[in-house]
Amino acid sequence: MTDIVVLGAGISGHTAALHLARLLGRRSTRGQHTVTVVSPNSHWNWIPSNIWVGVGKMGRDDVVFPLEPVYERKGIDFRQAKAVALRPEGDGEDHRGAVDIVYTGQGRVGQEERLRYDYLVNATGPRLRFEATEGLGPDGHSLSVCTADHAVEAARELDEVVQRLRAGQEQTLVVGMGHGTCTCEGAAFEYVFNVDHVLRDAGVRDLATLYYLTNEASLGDFGVDGMTFEDQGFQTSSELWTASLFRERGVLPILGAHVERVEEGVVHYETLDGSHHSLDFDFAMLLPPFGGVGLAAYDGQGGDITDELFAPSGFMRVDADYTAKPYEDWRAADWPETYQVPVWDNIFAVGIAFAPPHPISRPRKSSSGTVIAPSPPRTGMPSGVMGKTVALTIVDRIRSGPSAQPHRASMANMGAACVASAGAGLRTGSAAAMTMMPVVPDYSRYPTGRSLRDTRGEIGLGGHWVKLMLHYLFIHKAKGRPGWFLIPE
Ligand SMILES: Cc1cc2nc3c(=O)[nH]c(=O)nc-3n(C[C@H](O)[C@H](O)[C@H](O)COP(=O)(O)OP(=O)(O)OC[C@H]3O[C@@H](n4cnc5c(N)ncnc54)[C@H](O)[C@@H]3O)c2cc1C
Repeated sequence: MTDIVVLGAGISGHTAALHLARLLGRRSTRGQHTVTVVSPNSHWNWIPSNIWVGVGKMGRDDVVFPLEPVYERKGIDFRQAKAVALRPEGDGEDHRGAVDIVYTGQGRVGQEERLRYDYLVNATGPRLRFEATEGLGPDGHSLSVCTADHAVEAARELDEVVQRLRAGQEQTLVVGMGHGTCTCEGAAFEYVFNVDHVLRDAGVRDLATLYYLTNEASLGDFGVDGMTFEDQGFQTSSELWTASLFRERGVLPILGAHVERVEEGVVHYETLDGSHHSLDFDFAMLLPPFGGVGLAAYDGQGGDITDELFAPSGFMRVDADYTAKPYEDWRAADWPETYQVPVWDNIFAVGIAFAPPHPISRPRKSSSGTVIAPSPPRTGMPSGVMGKTVALTIVDRIRSGPSAQPHRASMANMGAACVASAGAGLRTGSAAAMTMMPVVPDYSRYPTGRSLRDTRGEIGLGGHWVKLMLHYLFIHKAKGRPGWFLIPE
């Protein structure tokens, strides 16, 4: 009998759970093995399409669906709860690992339970750290598209901006990163061009000033130190490629910026040269920095071992090389491959939940010492691949014994495709489609850090169709509909 507990039902955790259930067989024939998912939300959210919710092109119901019916069909137990503490050595009663959870639904709000596990997958994703910047976020003075509900609110406010523009009032809109250490620049990039597209569609773009405020030192960095593309024998940088889109659409970039404070209608920020600025706005969508969700950890005697399992950021330490090194000494091999936690090889952390060994983009500080550097992105595709990888490892260990070799999927060997919407519309939409291989540049293998054959960028209507197709394919996959497992992560 093996109990597997997956914490989190986002891209990585849900993928892990679906594959575990598939590989272990139907509940009736699975024998004693159990798969349990713990997640505080009753619904799954296809987060990439929140961008379209945030501009009113999709509704909330287009991007979320209830998890419980899917899990019931797949023989997965579901606890609508949040994990609060891990006990890798168990407790006085049982030496198996355990996780403490607090219910957030299923008629048991606030009730606590201790779940025992043989294998644990931590896929808890990010904590949205709005509090890192004073006044940031929907409880402060700016908007977000990180959750479907945030995106609905952003769409409502954007609509009001459009009404004011129609009435002839000039409007200033700011989209970007709400802190110097944010990640997910791709999402802000998508959102700014979708806003631009909506304003053009409404015929009111001329009265709007649209800023993209980012912690990237140059356009096209995307938190991955930019990319080099080769086209017909010529090399070009993602910086040039991206800058032309900004010029073409009249979106004004503010680069190397750390937002210090957001007040009603004003954002205050510092730039890499150490100067401080204020910008008045009528609409601001600024993403928060991410952190781990804040799980505690205790040993068998109840001693606090949180620092052993988690980095100060709250992300979980896995099989990466966390030695502090100068930027020039960072290696692709520092990145984790198995997502196994040191010492406890029955615990894995995948997706955003694992602690990256170092940023991918060159770290920078302003002249006054403020860190202004994108944190490494762990986008959907790598997150799904990691979820599947640890599911394969766990199933092998159940079948062949605990010494079975782990499956491996390093972001330094893994490609990623990112289709960044630049406006929705079957005939007028467009998207910037980028593929990179590998995600973490490896200068020992490629002079430009990445394969020139597999690192590409294209902008056009075709990209929009691909993005829309991915929306439907991934929702089909996440619902576990027929053939779901044939759709790659
Ligand atoms: C607006 C936006 C647009 C994006 N667009 C793209 C895109 O176009 N392409 C792309 O590849 N990536 C995109 N991303 C990134 C992508 O969404 C993430 O890479 C991906 O969701 C990470 O997967 P994850 O499983 O690690 O985390 P998540 O998908 O965030 O899942 C985390 C899960 O853990 C649960 N959880 C939280 N706390 C606890 C707890 N204490 N106990 C148990 N469960 C918990 C959450 O409820 C959730 O179910 C975008 C991100 C944003 C914010």
